[in-house]
Amino acid sequence: MNKPAVFFTWDIHYRCRYGCAYCFLHHETETSSIPARGLCADELYRVWRGLYERYGSARLSVTGGEPFDYPGFMDMVARLAAFDTFEFSTNLDWDAREFSAKVPPGAAKINPSFHPDHAALPEFLEKCLHLKEKGYGLDCVTVVAYPPNLAALKDHKAEIERRGISVVVFPFRGLHQGREYPKAYTEAERAALRELGAGAAEEVNAGLAKSHSLDSGPRERLQDRVCAMGTRYAKVIPNGDAFRCCAAVWTPAKTWPNWGPLGNIYDGTFRFDAEPRPCAIHEDGECRCHKAMVVGREDQWRKHWPLGEEAARP
Ligand code: SF4
Ligand code: SF4
Repeated sequence: MNKPAVFFTWDIHYRCRYGCAYCFLHHETETSSIPARGLCADELYRVWRGLYERYGSARLSVTGGEPFDYPGFMDMVARLAAFDTFEFSTNLDWDAREFSAKVPPGAAKINPSFHPDHAALPEFLEKCLHLKEKGYGLDCVTVVAYPPNLAALKDHKAEIERRGISVVVFPFRGLHQGREYPKAYTEAERAALRELGAGAAEEVNAGLAKSHSLDSGPRERLQDRVCAMGTRYAKVIPNGDAFRCCAAVWTPAKTWPNWGPLGNIYDGTFRFDAEPRPCAIHEDGECRCHKAMVVGREDQWRKHWPLGEEAARP
């Protein structure tokens, strides 16, 4: 894909037809109750087109919920693909052939997740293989090690990998039958997960599986960091509010001025920061994001943010 000038993570809405029992939408209700603004696809197109005019080509990492459940989403992507590039976190519950007929492969990368309670593996794989063959960079499928699905997990993983696509197994986080996971995995289940090459197996072992993007770096005073998140990256939630990073989403601007919203993309008040700012994470907080754009550590994060030419800032 072309190198973008700016990056957005866009939680377009928190709806999904699947309703998986292990979904964060059930457990993190403070987040999942944020309503989408309800703009039509045409209006969304105009918002992103306007941001392209102002900041240049964007890489939109679209997630939710299920992005493709948003009415008119695929056609909006097809129109924006002339300007921006996309990554989708998706359950693939949509027409892969229609997509490949509308969106050029250089404009999109697909990151699918398999949910055995809602999708049949043969149909799911058929879509994966079609999208892979068409060049959408589909090389990995994620699955959740939800306790009731553990018995079938090994076979599902083997079948997907047999077709040339790798599988990343995430530990389940949350309550199942009154027990708190991942701590509640038995020793045998932990051993099975390790055998399946779960990327976070060690975290499962330690009961620490907060996020697959945790690193094990030493904790430090984050207030001392100057971070460029917010100058060319923003996280957008379904009401259109934009923040400098994921960790800033719930922090009130009054308490931590450096963490206030960057404006709202739907209201036209959004602006990227002109300069990197100190990270204002609170005293006992910690950012272990290995993608944090910490000034002076460009060698660590540049590979995650393949920046192209920036447009002149207004
Ligand atoms: S498919 Fe993904 S977004 Fe949809 S309910 Fe399942 S885990 Fe949640
Ligand atoms: S250092 Fe981490 S928490 Fe602080 S602004 Fe950067 S990404 Fe956010």
